Amino acid sequence: MLTIVNFMPVYHQAPVSLHLLKADVAAAAERIRAAVEDGGDLRVLVPACETALADELRCALGLGADAVIEADPLLGFVYENDTACVQVTRGEKPIPSDVGGNLPDVRLIPGSELLGAPGVRTVWIEGADAPVDLPEACAVADVCSAAGVAPSDAKAVYVGFPSGALVSAGDGEARVELGSDYVRVLTKKDCAASVLLEILSTYRQEGCGRCVYGHEGTYQLATIVGDICRKKGQRADLDLMRDLAPVMATQSLCEVGRAAGRTTASFIELFGDEIEAHITKKTCAAGACKAFMTYHILPDKCVGCGECVDACEEDAILGKARFIHVIDQKACVQCGACVSACDEGAIIQAGAEKPRTPPRPIPIRRR
Ligand code: SF4
Ligand code: SF4
Ligand code: SF4
Repeated sequence: MLTIVNFMPVYHQAPVSLHLLKADVAAAAERIRAAVEDGGDLRVLVPACETALADELRCALGLGADAVIEADPLLGFVYENDTACVQVTRGEKPIPSDVGGNLPDVRLIPGSELLGAPGVRTVWIEGADAPVDLPEACAVADVCSAAGVAPSDAKAVYVGFPSGALVSAGDGEARVELGSDYVRVLTKKDCAASVLLEILSTYRQEGCGRCVYGHEGTYQLATIVGDICRKKGQRADLDLMRDLAPVMATQSLCEVGRAAGRTTASFIELFGDEIEAHITKKTCAAGACKAFMTYHILPDKCVGCGECVDACEEDAILGKARFIHVIDQKACVQCGACVSACDEGAIIQAGAEKPRTPPRPIPIRRR
């Protein structure tokens, strides 16, 4: 039996396994040795950028130099797959050839699982400086609290690869299985479509290109969601995603493509209406997608000086002296040049909530 212990960070911003290893290398070495079956082989994966740590671990393990392998730190997800890890032990590129767990004579153990306390999951919450310990099955409200987000501001909890689960924060009593090193709490300021695009972009970078559903599917989903965020979404887009995501979740060759499909399906289930509003209502409810931001002139601040008219190369600002000026939204290209031209601070950028403005320039009546 070959035992592979993986300390490669699944997410670069959430190096939980490495954090636990660095905390006490000697104690980690003891646990690693205890995990190896009698007469079995051991390989330990650490990032190639951690040479000193690799040497310290080799020393503590007291095994041959080849027991600790320094692997390519640019990848993360694929090291959760045993067929990919076996290739690394042979000096080859980590390319998955099957769903993890199907090799009878290989045991792949994530470092965070080996070094973590029983029943506890050490997770790195997006934006935090250090990981936190939480129960493996945890109330959504507790995750929000660990992230420093008030339950009333939270929209959902996203558990990263390989889980790909998304749980609504609407029900604070709901529980979430923390099956990943990485957790993110989506707040009301987060646009579900933009967050999904971010996640799919990560899956695209991690994909090896070996299978059609994993590679092409992730590319298609990222392209569609990217169009939606750029105000170029089509009415059929959501149906296409609804069809494609579940097929990817079952037909992709390994868990990378499967998790991308599962994640997309969860986002559509929870935030389908919010994503669809980008297409049908041309609004981003969170006010996060730049393409949906618009510029407006506040009537109570405009003094009718005309400085903004000269700054706008698109001739999108209408008005004359002593008139409240108005931006023609059809002509505006959202360049923002007019904002700095206005000394009165009358021009603002607005997301989902737009200010009330006159439809055309009107005389200024105030003194
Ligand atoms: S799902 Fe992605 S990473 Fe897995 S084999 Fe297919 S292309 Fe490669
Ligand atoms: S928006 Fe500003 S720059 Fe433009 S006319 Fe009004 S006060 Fe002048
Ligand atoms: S944002 Fe740019 S295009 Fe739009 S009104 Fe201002 S200057 Fe003109």
